[in-house]
Amino acid sequence: MRRDLISENIHIARFTTMGVGGTVKYYAEPESIEGLSYLIKWAFDKGIPYFVLGGGSDVIFDNKDFSLLVINMGKFRNFEFEDTGVSAQAGVNLNKLIRECAIRGLSGFENLFGIPGSIGGAVSKNAGAYGVEVKDLITGARIMNLEGDIETLGRDELGLSYRESSFDGILIEASFSLSEGDPDKIQQQMKEIIKKRNLTQPRGKTSGCIFKNPEPDLSAGYLLDRAGLKGFRIGGAMFSNIHANFIVNVDNASAEDIFSLIDEGKRRVFEKFGIKLEEEVVIIK
Ligand SMILES: Cc1cc2nc3c(=O)[nH]c(=O)nc-3n(C[C@H](O)[C@H](O)[C@H](O)COP(=O)(O)OP(=O)(O)OC[C@H]3O[C@@H](n4cnc5c(N)ncnc54)[C@H](O)[C@@H]3O)c2cc1C
Repeated sequence: MRRDLISENIHIARFTTMGVGGTVKYYAEPESIEGLSYLIKWAFDKGIPYFVLGGGSDVIFDNKDFSLLVINMGKFRNFEFEDTGVSAQAGVNLNKLIRECAIRGLSGFENLFGIPGSIGGAVSKNAGAYGVEVKDLITGARIMNLEGDIETLGRDELGLSYRESSFDGILIEASFSLSEGDPDKIQQQMKEIIKKRNLTQPRGKTSGCIFKNPEPDLSAGYLLDRAGLKGFRIGGAMFSNIHANFIVNVDNASAEDIFSLIDEGKRRVFEKFGIKLEEEVVIIK
């Protein structure tokens, strides 16, 4: 009955910030819990795997046809403030939420300003910047589990660690605890953070940091730079000249161009430093 929620043979590249990838057999943007639950059960009955998509700023799809249901959570975009807390649905844009907090003089999120994507992606990847991570602010979340039922999980049950989470299922809504602050100071801090980002990160089609930092005090960007990868290009993809841990799709790159660069980065860093880099970005092959 809700089969009309599902579109077929959709080009996925335009739903990701890297802008590469082939087609997915099934694609849906549910607007309600009932719609989402229908999709999960539909996929389960058909034996089709599903993938949840937020803003697509941390995911790279291969250039092939996937027999997959992509569930885009972008239509879950309500949020609600209560005292110094806020609950936001998965599809709320993180930067929009940060601006709304600033207007209300609620402090906590400002160092994350400028991270693209949604609340769902930010929680799933425990997004962080300049010493603050989602895990420091989140108090709990509502999840749709693999059976299509809703569960409420506390902060510790989400299993958030460096750019990872361990909960199973689809995040529907998350709650955050903030503190009272001066709106002008909060806005000032957001401006400072954007200034820093603009000086240290490239613009254009990219998925942010490709690799995790091997240690808190040893950045992948430093290792890649020392291994001579800054500006190194394969096809239409290049390790940024500004930040070596960013790959930028500079000229109609294919997924293969990007994957070859990832392999080359790993190979050279291992050869020079004996360190195995691990992807931070989610790769769908
Ligand atoms: C220019 C640029 C700068 C960036 N800077 C930073 C930075 O400073 N710090 C940082 O941490 N990251 C950074 N990133 C990476 C990225 O923006 C973050 O990881 C972001 O939080 C991902 O959110 P998204 O909605 O785009 O997630 P997506 O890319 O859509 O998805 C990422 C992962 O989250 C899962 N997911 C998405 N929604 C849900 C949901 N509702 N339920 C369950 N799982 C879900 C997906 O399945 C996937 O595994 C940057 C990226 C870019 C392009």
